[in-house]
This record gives sequence, structure tokens and C-alpha cells, in this order.
Amino acid sequence: MRTYLLAAALLAALLSSGFSSVTSAAASPLQNLSDADIGEALAAHNAVRQRVAQAESQRLGSPVVIPDLTWNSDLATYAQEWADQLLSSDPDPDPDRRTFPHHDWGELQALGRGENIYAGWSDGGVPDQSPTAAVTWWDSEQQYYDYDTNTCAADQTCGHFTQLVWSTTTQVGCGQAVRTAAYGTQFVVWVCNYAPAGNIIGERPYDVMTVAQPDVEQQVVDLVNSERQRKFGIDKRDTLPRYCRACEVQHLCHGECPKHRFILTPDGEPGLNYLCPAYRRFFTHVDPAMRAMAELLRNGRPAADIRRRPGAAMS
Ligand code: SF4
Repeated sequence: MRTYLLAAALLAALLSSGFSSVTSAAASPLQNLSDADIGEALAAHNAVRQRVAQAESQRLGSPVVIPDLTWNSDLATYAQEWADQLLSSDPDPDPDRRTFPHHDWGELQALGRGENIYAGWSDGGVPDQSPTAAVTWWDSEQQYYDYDTNTCAADQTCGHFTQLVWSTTTQVGCGQAVRTAAYGTQFVVWVCNYAPAGNIIGERPYDVMTVAQPDVEQQVVDLVNSERQRKFGIDKRDTLPRYCRACEVQHLCHGECPKHRFILTPDGEPGLNYLCPAYRRFFTHVDPAMRAMAELLRNGRPAADIRRRPGAAMS
């Protein structure tokens, strides 16, 4: 198999043609795409876009968003007419003299459309006519593209790939033509047009999103000082039953969560926490250790030093 790729030209939009020569008959007239071809063309494009977005997000450490393309029938008609035009006659028998040119650059610019072209041929069989073959060929240029410097390796072409993953491009439409030349070689041509056009000079195909880091400390301060939080604290205090207000561990427990205060106190007052016995036991148990740690902190020592005081350590 020999493969060829024409160098892309850069205007406001950079457009490219991909050529693949395959050794392998069946005359086929000009044709339009089936629903299956449309689905495959879209899936092939979007698979590349998702793959690159995911990989680049990981590599660059920030989200890279490359949205899926949707099908545009106007673009498809435009592409189909051009594919038919490209194979309206036999290409040159000499592979080195075959050309599959783009639409007029000025016309594409005026329409705001990008364009990728792929041509494959076979001298002894049927070339792969699937849209995936075209997209795969264009995608293979990724190896030559350097995002960090936004450049393409010397004597290579990257424009098919960069149009493929251009993040502000949202729509695609493709056309395919096939032909068996009089000298026996079979050809397939794919033309895909994109909107809005990618490959804008000086721009990268996608950007790294900067994600604002939340000021967590300020968020906590705002929460504590919020009117809603103040009301919650006041209500929690003012609804304590007498039984809690007289409790020796009330300063630690505070009656716990109001949503759990649905049993009666021993003297019949509503509003006692149904977990009261457990809280009373727990806080009574930890109270000596808490006081000891508070004393350590007041003396400028770490609270963890309590582990060095066997008498105050929790068991
Ligand atoms: S331990 Fe029981 S009585 Fe004491 S404050 Fe907590 S819920 Fe109220």
C-alpha cells in the first residue's frame, strides 16, 4: 500500500486532501450516502474528538472540551456535489499527477466552511470506501501535530487532523464518490465540509479551560455567618427542653440534631433527642480527655500529648 497526502494550504482556513492508494474492481457509479454511512461518518468524527479531548485533558491537567459534531444536510449536499465533480472523469493514470483539489478557497472562506478531502484507489480490488477509512487517514496526522507550539512537523500535513478536532466546529456534512477508470483503477473520494470552519491561522484547535478554584475557607465563613445558619443555631438552643438545659454534658451535646428530638423527657416535656442515653454516656466518657486536651492547648502544647498522660488518655 502506498499512501499520499497533499500539503495543505493555509488561508483564513486551512484545508487538506488525503490520498490513499490501495492495491486491489467493480465499476460503481456516482452515489449518495446511506443512513448507515452518515451514522458511521459522524461516529468516526466524534470518536476522534472524544478521544483527543479525554487524552489532552489528562495531559494538560485541565478540561479540554471538543463537542460532538452534528450532521448538516446542506454541508453534505455541498460536499457530495464536489465529490461527484472530482470523479466526473478518470483521474490521471499516473498516480503522481493525480490531483483532487478543494473548492475555491475564496468561496469556502465566504461561506465559513472548512473542508477535508480523502482519495483512495486500488489497481487490483476495491478500495476501502467507508467513511471511517477517510477519518482514520485524517486522524493519522495527529503524530505530526504539536499542540504546545501549535506547529506541524516539517514536510508533513496536519490540517486534516486539526480540522477534525477543531473545537468550535459543530457541524459536518460529507459526500462520497466512487469510480472505476477506463484503465481499471478504482477510486473512492470523500469530501467532508465543516462549519464553522476550523484551522484559523494563529489559533489552536482547542483550548484548555481554566477552572476557577473555589475559596473553600471563605465559603465556610460565609456559611457560618449566614442568616440561615444563625437562625438554625438560635432555634436549636431555644427549643432545648428543661431536661437538656440541666444536663451536665449539655455544653458538649447541645441536645444534638433537632430532627432527632422527638421523644418525651422523663418529666413528659417533648423535644428530647431519641439518642439521648447514648450521647450522655459518650460525652461523660470523653469529658475528662477533652478537658485535658484543652489544658494542653492552653499551655502551648499539642493536644496529641494526651497520649503521654496515661491517666487522661481515652481507653
Ligand atoms: S445528653 Fe441528652 S439530656 Fe444531655 S443535652 Fe444531650 S440530649 Fe439533652
